[in-house]
Amino acid sequence: MPATPTTRQLAGFTGVDPPGRWPPTRTIPRAGALEQPVETLPGVGPAVRRKLGRLGIATVGDVLAHRPRRYESPAEERTIAELFGDEEAVLDVVVRRASARRRGRLHILTAHVTDATGEIRATWFNQPWLEGKLAAGTRLRLRGKPNRFGFQVSSYDIGDAAETADFAPVYPSTADLAQKTLRTVTEAALGFARDGGEPLPAVVRASDQLPLRADALVRLHRPRSDAEAERARRRLALDELLTLQLALRRRTAEREVLVAEALPPPAELVATYRDVLPFTLTAAQDRAIAEIDADLARTTPMQRLLQGDVGSGKTAVALYTLLRAVEAGRQGALMAPTETLAEQHFFTIEGLCAELGVRVALLTSSLTARERRAAHQLVASGDVGIAVGTHALIQREVEFADLAVAVVDEQHRFGVEQRAALAEGRSPHVLHMTATPIPRTLALTVYGDLAVSEISAPPADRKPIKTAWVTEERSAEAYTRLRRHLDDGRQAYVVCPLVEGSETTLARAAEDEAARLREHELAGYRVGCVHGRLKTAERRATMGAFSRGELEVLVATTVIEVGIDVPNATIMIVQEADRFGLAQLHQLRGRVGRGAEQSFCLLVSRHRDELSESAIERLEAMTSTTDGFELAERDLEIRGEGQLVGARQSGLTDLRFTRLRADRDLLERAKELAAALEGEPFLHDEVERLLGEAEHVGES
Ligand code: ADP
Ligand code: MG
Repeated sequence: MPATPTTRQLAGFTGVDPPGRWPPTRTIPRAGALEQPVETLPGVGPAVRRKLGRLGIATVGDVLAHRPRRYESPAEERTIAELFGDEEAVLDVVVRRASARRRGRLHILTAHVTDATGEIRATWFNQPWLEGKLAAGTRLRLRGKPNRFGFQVSSYDIGDAAETADFAPVYPSTADLAQKTLRTVTEAALGFARDGGEPLPAVVRASDQLPLRADALVRLHRPRSDAEAERARRRLALDELLTLQLALRRRTAEREVLVAEALPPPAELVATYRDVLPFTLTAAQDRAIAEIDADLARTTPMQRLLQGDVGSGKTAVALYTLLRAVEAGRQGALMAPTETLAEQHFFTIEGLCAELGVRVALLTSSLTARERRAAHQLVASGDVGIAVGTHALIQREVEFADLAVAVVDEQHRFGVEQRAALAEGRSPHVLHMTATPIPRTLALTVYGDLAVSEISAPPADRKPIKTAWVTEERSAEAYTRLRRHLDDGRQAYVVCPLVEGSETTLARAAEDEAARLREHELAGYRVGCVHGRLKTAERRATMGAFSRGELEVLVATTVIEVGIDVPNATIMIVQEADRFGLAQLHQLRGRVGRGAEQSFCLLVSRHRDELSESAIERLEAMTSTTDGFELAERDLEIRGEGQLVGARQSGLTDLRFTRLRADRDLLERAKELAAALEGEPFLHDEVERLLGEAEHVGES
């Protein structure tokens, strides 16, 4: 029998005062069980593993952390005669006969089913494997809604009822992974729910009236009411926020001991820069610059996040910051997550820097050994004022003569660990940029160790991009529209579908698609193609030709997601847009609408019946707003689905259970608890894992 919990400390803990000693948690985690690969669960073979992998689920623990996006509402059990309107109901029926047919790519299965009161036609879409199971005489439970054709089935049970039960979980999924499979796999994983141990001290559980973590996991996946599910979710959210706060506190403490050199006030070079720019900086840009200048004047290294929607003009602010280093006789580094993006940044700033007499080096892994040595030498001697490269390259290989400022683009791809690693070696001032903004108050909590600047409004002459969603059958119209833009002298992007497989497979698919378009929809137009497998020189040549207008259309993989800036490009078609994540679509769309001209984004998807619920929500979100902040919030709500591995966010922003808007009180509580629990062994492994994952992702 475990000892009676010491309730004496309870009162103390509802505040932030820690007791003298924390009593140990009683459940000892059986480390390892949750880290087992999903294949160890019954029913998971290579095919299911692959599909789960696309949802970011690799381990048993990941299965448990895959939060249902909603639960089936309670539905009344009815007889066929009692069905009414389009009210959801559960039927207990027997199959008379079943048949299947196709309409395009849509597979339609129809079964005539009966109960004591009548007969009705039940339909399923795209579940061909089910046909063999619906022999005459089979007993079924069906959940769904009557419609004018009969009964549209949303879930069913043959034998034991689980899927049609009230509050059955509905998971984020991809179109080819059935809810039934996810539910079965989760059911199996729940057997290990206790192996994660109990990370919170008993006094906290008591004072905050929290269920045990293991019970919370069970109730999250198998609630008996919406309220129970919500209580479970909040318990898990608190764990996750607490882990985050503990990690942030650790990083902040480590950084406080660092010193940077303060930079002298803004001088001539940045004044000339303002003159050389082809536009005047907006008020929003100037505000961000003022905040940065204040940071640079201090001897604590700047750690600032610059948020701003795609196209809001962050690059101009970034270059200003780099030039502040150069005018102080020191150096700046601009780090991007990918080589393509590094190159794009280089092209963008090279011209301006040449006018200013500032030498810029591009450091990519595709340089020859000799070129690279030469470039490194120039950076090490201080001849180069600004170095541009991937963060991995700059962090690992390059010695700077005197690095004063580092700009890290696409902050969300890096975790806490890189940020710290960069600062530890050299203590430069660091500006992080992200185009996946989250509301400022939330950013302050989620990126608790960063100051936040926001470019809240884009340059004034922009018109919001018009976005339309069309299904495949009408893609011809999309191309007609695109050709009209080309005929008016504008340029266009066509984004290829995400295909499964390696970068090489993707590259080949893009090449094939470009060739096909040259033959058909875009015959007679000058069409180029870029993807991740091109040699640097080829990619430069193609991008260069496109920005000079020598190519009219750029067919591309998501390598164009960030960084390309061709204001004359006014229309984009995204093929199989339902496969992309929301943040990704928003980034892609940001490639158009960069000039004063009205721009368009056409999202082509598969047939509506073939799409998952959240794919539909994503596409609807895209057509309903162009505001990145709003989309970021929507994304947080729908998240989990369609995130291909690699595109997944990591580290700090990877909150699985938290609903940032609804859980502000939990955020506050997590901060309090983190202060009280700091240095104690609670959640130690989770914190390590978070910091470790951040490191791992940054290096990939
Ligand atoms: P972001 O990096 O935030 O997506 P960019 O810095 O690439 O945006 O800027 C998008 C486009 O807006 C570029 O073509 C850039 O030259 C232009 N731009 C930036 N600042 C201004 C401004 N103040 N006025 C007009 N155009 C601007
Ligand atoms: Mg940019």
